[in-house]
Amino acid sequence: MTVHYHEEDLPDGVLEGTGALAVDTETMGLITHRDRLCVVQISDGSGDEHLVRFGPGSEYEAPNLTRILADESRVKLYHYARFDLAAIHYYLGVMAAPVFCTKIASKLVRTYTDRHGLKNLTDELLGESMSKQQQSSDWGGPDLNEAQREYAASDVRFLHRLRDELTVRLEREGRMPIAQACFDFLPTRAVLDIAGWAESDIFSHS
Ligand code: MN
Repeated sequence: MTVHYHEEDLPDGVLEGTGALAVDTETMGLITHRDRLCVVQISDGSGDEHLVRFGPGSEYEAPNLTRILADESRVKLYHYARFDLAAIHYYLGVMAAPVFCTKIASKLVRTYTDRHGLKNLTDELLGESMSKQQQSSDWGGPDLNEAQREYAASDVRFLHRLRDELTVRLEREGRMPIAQACFDFLPTRAVLDIAGWAESDIFSHS
C-alpha cells in the first residue's frame, strides 16, 4: 500500500494493463472553467494509489495519463463522476469513460437514506472510515503535504470495493440496467455542464 506522487504526468509503464481504474480529481474549486485542475488520483485496485499533480501554469500535456484515461476498454470508477469527467475533459482534453459512478449507484439502491457521500458509503458498505479533513484545502500550492497526499489517495482507495458491493445491490433490486444507462449518459452530462447547461435541466418542461 503505497502512495506514488508524480508531477505533470504518469511515468512510462505505470498502470498499464487491463481492468477498472478508480479515478478522482482535486481542483481549485467547483467552477470547472475558473478553477484549475490540480491533482488526478488513480488506482487499479491493487492497493497502490498514483497522484499526478499539475502545477500553476501547467500546459496539461500528459500523454501517459490521458492515454490510460481515454482507454475505452477500461471502466473508470468515480464518486460523482459528473464533476471529474468535466474537469478531465476541460483540462486534459479526453473523455475518461466508460464510467461507473458510486454516487449514482448509491442513489439508485440506498433509497432509505439521503446520505450519499463517499464517507457514508465506505462507513456503511465497507466498515472502513475515511477522513474528509483535507477536502477543502489549497491544492494549488508548490507541493502537497503528507496529509493532502493521504487524503487525495484515500478518495480512490475504496472505489473498487464499493463498485463490487453496489453492483450486488443494483442486481438484487433489478436496477442495473437503469444504472448503466445513467453511467452511459454521464459524459454527455459533463459536456452540457461545460457548455453552459450546468444549472438547467433540459428534460424539464419549463
Ligand atoms: Mn477527492
